[in-house]
Amino acid sequence: MKIATMFSDIWQSLWQRPVTQKYPFERKEAPDRLRGKLHWNPENCTGCALCNKDCPANAIEVITIDKKEKRFVMRYHLDRCTYCAQCVESCRFSCIELSDKEWELASTHKQPFTVYYGNEDDLNEFMAKFTQPESEPTPQ
Ligand code: SF4
Ligand code: SF4
Repeated sequence: MKIATMFSDIWQSLWQRPVTQKYPFERKEAPDRLRGKLHWNPENCTGCALCNKDCPANAIEVITIDKKEKRFVMRYHLDRCTYCAQCVESCRFSCIELSDKEWELASTHKQPFTVYYGNEDDLNEFMAKFTQPESEPTPQ
């Protein structure tokens, strides 16, 4: 770069408004199609585990509580997720969506990176029965 061009750029930049945003003090509305945290609705889930099989990051597990009664729990590993939305595409029952509101997901603790989804009863049963690793049912 020529010296004259460099000084010209510096001079111009002194009079321009900054292009950066004052995040996190000022926040702009996230775009509608932003892919943030995964949410799972167990209502229509059949336990087919397609979401699990198609996930390239091994970030979701569908755990069966009672297959006959279609009771499942999802364990979502937020720290493995690449937000590719393949699971949303794969689920034929629209159980999964990626939030465009929850995208500030950094944490200094590990605990928020493992998220459990399911009906309250199923989650309680899962937590009560399967907190020991050796007694946990095999994810599908
Ligand atoms: S693909 Fe959909 S229906 Fe199948 S296990 Fe996943 S969430 Fe349930
Ligand atoms: S968005 Fe992609 S990486 Fe994240 S859980 Fe779904 S399929 Fe896996």
